[in-house]
Order: sequence, then structure tokens, then C-alpha cells
Amino acid sequence: MVGSGAIRDPRVVIIGAGFGGFSAAKSLARGPFDITLIDRYNYHLFQPLLYQVATAALSPSDIASPIRAEFHRRPNVNVMLGNVTAIDSDQNEVIAEGHRIPFDYLIVATGARQSYFGHDEWAPVAPGLKGIDDAIALRRRILLAFERAEIESDPDERRRLLNFVVVGGGATGVELVGAIAELAKRALASNFRTIDPRSARIVLVEAGPRILSQFDKSLSDSAQRALEQLGVDVRVGTLVTGCDEMGISMGSDRLDSRTVIWAAGVEASPAGGWLGADTDRAGRIKVGPDLSLPARPHIFAIGDTASYVDAVGRPLPGLAAVAKQQGAYVARVISARAAGKSVSPFRYKDYGMLATIGRSRAVAELGGMKISGFAAWLLWCFAHIYFLIGFRNRLIVMLNWAWTFVTLQRGSRLITGIDGAQMKDLKQTPQVGSLRDPA
Ligand SMILES: Cc1cc2nc3c(=O)[nH]c(=O)nc-3n(C[C@H](O)[C@H](O)[C@H](O)COP(=O)(O)OP(=O)(O)OC[C@H]3O[C@@H](n4cnc5c(N)ncnc54)[C@H](O)[C@@H]3O)c2cc1C
Repeated sequence: MVGSGAIRDPRVVIIGAGFGGFSAAKSLARGPFDITLIDRYNYHLFQPLLYQVATAALSPSDIASPIRAEFHRRPNVNVMLGNVTAIDSDQNEVIAEGHRIPFDYLIVATGARQSYFGHDEWAPVAPGLKGIDDAIALRRRILLAFERAEIESDPDERRRLLNFVVVGGGATGVELVGAIAELAKRALASNFRTIDPRSARIVLVEAGPRILSQFDKSLSDSAQRALEQLGVDVRVGTLVTGCDEMGISMGSDRLDSRTVIWAAGVEASPAGGWLGADTDRAGRIKVGPDLSLPARPHIFAIGDTASYVDAVGRPLPGLAAVAKQQGAYVARVISARAAGKSVSPFRYKDYGMLATIGRSRAVAELGGMKISGFAAWLLWCFAHIYFLIGFRNRLIVMLNWAWTFVTLQRGSRLITGIDGAQMKDLKQTPQVGSLRDPA
């Protein structure tokens, strides 16, 4: 792809420094490539632990690391903070912040965003959890609900404030309700005078017949039992038909709540539209056996924004491991091409799945092995510590978990971003609708 007569390294532009883009950049950085890594944030985020920021167990900086710091020893990696808005495939240029960045190879790794299945109007009342800002806003919302309940004189409103609803029984929903239950029933238990946080009602609503549907049924059942022991009301086979500031509707049923959290679905980033590419129903770019776009062998899509169908015709799931392996694979394809060689098609190595329930239980499916309880939780802890980026983050997260395990306390219970109006609300009687985040 390098222009005729030009003596320069091939230019590789990577959009997105999440699991996929980061892994591609790390692998390519060792080779003779001129790499530009673009992200709209200046940090790489470990999304699997976001729910712990939302429930006050960890701080945002514990699960994120600055992208520049990771590549400071690699002069061939140029990090750019910017929001990509288009790709000019005719000119081979990426457009971000008014700049045009030329490429010989392009890796699109822009991930996924929340999907409300055509009900985007639910987004402000039922926020999701995709980034640090979402996690901080959710933490504020959850902690503020307890503070409001403490000074609320109307029993109906107090009940609404102490009802927490999570929609979606996948790993994120299960981990969130488990953590909210532990926050209410343990960490906050003796901290209030008027209310008893242990009386909080935590409901998990799942449209399908069982939670954790990607796991074996025995593990789904075990996870549901563990949640119920924590006091979570698990409702499977229940479709949410409406969401507003006062709660959710499920057909003719109604559940009042001031805190509804959406963990029910994702759709791909808009990158498919930038490229005019063929996409699946979730907007993911359909890629070939080497993860490149049909008829555009120098443009690759990886991770949550790509749809790669495996040998038996199933699209790969949206998992960090898939994105990481695809990032490393595309780096190999590009290196091989630059050396005039080829590589065999991408194959995903499935090392298993894990989901945690509360402070000391988890479920794990590793190959044919199915584990639940404390042993699975230990595995979950080691896997997450191992995959976190940066020694500091690993150490701090490990110490935090040990502290929480022993004391049941949560060290990051800060309510930040309360503006003047919300402070005033807190001192007076809260009004209907006053729980909305300022963002
Ligand atoms: C709450 C939560 C919990 C999860 N838990 C697990 C788990 O336990 N195990 C597991 O395997 N997976 C889990 N996942 C899924 C996993 O995080 C994703 O599959 C993985 O992040 C996908 O990697 P990616 O590189 O495709 O996208 P991401 O990691 O999402 O990275 C995309 C990057 O692109 C950047 N970007 C997007 N658009 C633009 C733009 N226009 N311009 C510039 N930059 C842009 C973003 O800022 C981001 O840095 C979880 C996800 C969430 C949200």
C-alpha cells in the first residue's frame, strides 16, 4: 500500500483504544509501522469492572490507564485524542476534529453503545453503563436515592427511592444487582438514622427465560439462587414495555422506582455507516476470514463493532477476549502482508466465561468445566487482576477488594457533580422529577 518509490513505513491508523485497538497497537508497535492510535478519551478503560465504580467499590482511575503512558517508549506510535466522525475510503483518510489522517491500513475498533431497542426516549430515565461518565452518574444516582429517602416524609416516595431496578439479566445486570444488594444490605446498613437501607428492594428484570443465558442452565440457576439469597427479586420472562421517571411498566404490571438502570442490550458503533459497509442487525460490520472488509483488504474491523461468523455460522460474542485476540491477529495479518506473506483465517480461542454475584460468589464455565460459589469467585478475581492494565491498578484493585472482603465497606462512596439546585433539593422536600442527572 505504500506509494510507489516512497521509502517509509506503512501508516496504520487505529480508531479506538479499547480492548481490540489497544491489543493491535501493542502488537504492531514492535514492527516497522507508523501508527496513529485515535480515541475520544485519553484512557484505556477496563469495562468489566465499571459496575464496581457505579456501586462505589472502586474509583474511576483504578480501572483506567492513560493511553499515552502505555506507549511513551514507542516513538512510532502517535496517540491522538479525538472523536472520529467519518472515513474517506476513496482517499484512505480518517476524519477527526477537523483533521484528515491518511492511512495505508485502517483498523476500526470503535466498540459498541447502549441499545434501547427503538426506545431511545428511555435513555434519560434508564441510563446504561458503558463508560466512566456513566459509572459516576450511576454512583451519584444510587447514593443520592438513599440520601433522598433519608429526608423524605412521603412514604410512597420513600418506597420509590428505595426501589432499584436493573433491566437485563446478562453478566452486567447480574453483577450490578449483586453489588447494589451488598451496598444496601451491608456497606450502608448502619449509616442512616431514618431509613433502614436493608429494606431496599432490588429487582432484576429479564425478558428471556433465564438470567446469564450464555452460560449453562445449571450455572444460570445457581446464579439466580445466589442473587435471591442476597435479597434480589429476579423476574425472568418479563418484558419491559415502558420506562419513565417513576418506574417501569411490564405489560399491565407496574414497578415504581426512582432508579432504573439499563443493562439490556448493545448495538455497534456507527462505524459501519462511515464505511458504507454491509452490517448485521446490531449494526456490526460484516468481515471476512482475515477480519478485513470485502473488497477492501486494507480496512479491518474488530471487537464489538465487527461481525465475524465462526466455523459453525455463529457470530462471536461481544467479549473482551474476542476483541483482544482479533487485535493481535490483525497485527499479524498486517505484518505478514508487509513482508509479502499471508496468514491463515482468524480462529477464536474460547477460554471460558465468568460472572460474579456479590462479594464472594461467581459462576465460571471453562471448557467443559462448570464452577460456582467461592472457588469461581477466586478465579474471577485472579482473571480480572491479571487482565487489568498497569501494576498500580492491579495493586490498588487487589487491596480494595481485600479491604471490602474483610470490612464489607466500600471506599468510593462519593456523590460528585451535585449542582446547586440538587443540593437545595436535598435540604428541602424532594420533588417529583428532581432525581435526574444534570448531564
Ligand atoms: C459494563 C460492561 C461489563 C463488561 N463485562 C465484561 C466481562 O466481564 N467480560 C468480557 O469479556 N467482556 C465484558 N464486557 C464487554 C467488553 O468490555 C467488550 O466486549 C470489549 O470492550 C470490546 O472491545 P472493543 O475494543 O471492541 O471496544 P471497546 O473496548 O469498547 O473500545 C472502543 C474504543 O473506541 C473508542 N471510540 C468509539 N467511538 C469512537 C470515535 N468515534 N472516535 C474515537 N474513538 C472512539 C472508545 O472511546 C473506546 O475506547 C463488558 C462490557 C461492559 C460495558
